[in-house]
Amino acid sequence: MYFGSVKFFKHIIVAVTILLIIVPCVFAFILSSKVAQLEEENQSLRSEIGEYQLTGHQSRYDADELFSLYKENLENKDDFLKLAYEYDEGMYKNAAGIEEQAVPTSSGNIITAAPVTENNITQSGTINGLDEPEEETPNSGTPSYQMLYPDLYAELPENIIYNDDMDYVYLTFDDGPSKYTKDILNYLKAYDIKATFFVVPDGSEESNARLKAIADAGHTIGIHTATHEYDKIYASVDAYLEDFKIAYDRVYEATGLKCNLFRFPGGSINDYNTEIRDELIAEMTRRGFIYFDWNVDSSDAMGATWTEMYNNVRTQTMDVNRAVILMHDYNGGWNTILVLEDIIKWIIGNGKRTFHVGQLSEFVKPVQF
Ligand SMILES: [Zn+2]
Repeated sequence: MYFGSVKFFKHIIVAVTILLIIVPCVFAFILSSKVAQLEEENQSLRSEIGEYQLTGHQSRYDADELFSLYKENLENKDDFLKLAYEYDEGMYKNAAGIEEQAVPTSSGNIITAAPVTENNITQSGTINGLDEPEEETPNSGTPSYQMLYPDLYAELPENIIYNDDMDYVYLTFDDGPSKYTKDILNYLKAYDIKATFFVVPDGSEESNARLKAIADAGHTIGIHTATHEYDKIYASVDAYLEDFKIAYDRVYEATGLKCNLFRFPGGSINDYNTEIRDELIAEMTRRGFIYFDWNVDSSDAMGATWTEMYNNVRTQTMDVNRAVILMHDYNGGWNTILVLEDIIKWIIGNGKRTFHVGQLSEFVKPVQF
C-alpha cells in the first residue's frame, strides 16, 4: 500500500521541499526582470531630463530633483514637461519676455508664447519657437501666477472694432449645460436667434454632448467655471486660474473651441473676490480673455416666479441701450424654460422698441460692472 506508507510521506516531503525552492526562484526571476525593466525606464527618463537641462535654460532643480518630482507627483511625461517648463527659470524669463507683448494691443493683436509640448522639443532637447533668454535680469516683481499655464491665452483676431450694437439684446445662459439645454436650444432655433452660454463643463460624456450641441447650433460658448465653488475659486489668483483652465480644456475637448470670453461666477464684483479682484481681472486681461457681466437680471436662479422673470427682463431691458440678459441653464431651471419663449416673443415684437437679438463675441463691447 503506497498511500500512507513511509515512502509516500518521504515523497511528499521531497515534493514540498522542491516546491519551496522552485516557487520563490520563479518569483525572484520575474521580480528581478521587472526591476531591470523599471530601472531601464528610469534611466532613459533621467537622460531625457538631462537633455532637457542641456537646452541652456537654467533650471531651479537639478536633474535628480526633477526626476524625483516626476516620480512623486506626476503620472506621465507630459505633466513632467509642463512642470519642467514652469520651474525652468531661464525659460520663464524668456516666456515672460514674450508674454509682455501678449497683452492685447490697441488693435487687439495678441501674440502668445509658444507652449512647450513634446512636439516642439527636438531629439537633442532644444525647444523650438522660443529663443534663449537675452540677459539675466531679476524677476522678483512678476507674480508667480503669471508662470502658470504658459499656453493659456486667448487667441483674438488682429483688429477688434466693436460692432455698433445699439438696441441689441444678448441672451446669456449661465451654469449649463443641463437637462434643459436641449429645450433652450429648441426655442432659440424656433425663433432663429443666437445666444451665449457661459458654461460649467464637468467633463462627462453627457456634458460634452450638450456642449457640442450648443457649438454645432452656432451659439457662443464662454467659460464660466469648472466647480462654481466661490470659496475655492476666489481663494487666490492661482486657484481661479486652475479652475478656469480645467473648464477651458473641457470645452476644447468637447467642441474644439478655444474660448475667448468668460463670465466670473457671481459676476466680476462679488462678495467672495474682494481680496483678489483687481489682480485677478488684470491677470485674465493680460492673458487676453474678455469677461462679460450683465445689465439685465432675470433673477431666475434666485427663485423668481414666471411673472417676476418676465417683468424683470422687460423693465430692465427698456432701461438700457443694449441689454446683456442673465438667465440660467441649470437643472433647477424649469421656470426659465417656461418663460423663455415669451421673453423671446417680447424682445422681437414688443411694439414699443425694435430690438435685435445677438450673440456675444470679441466684437461686442463688454458689459462690465
Ligand atoms: Zn453661475
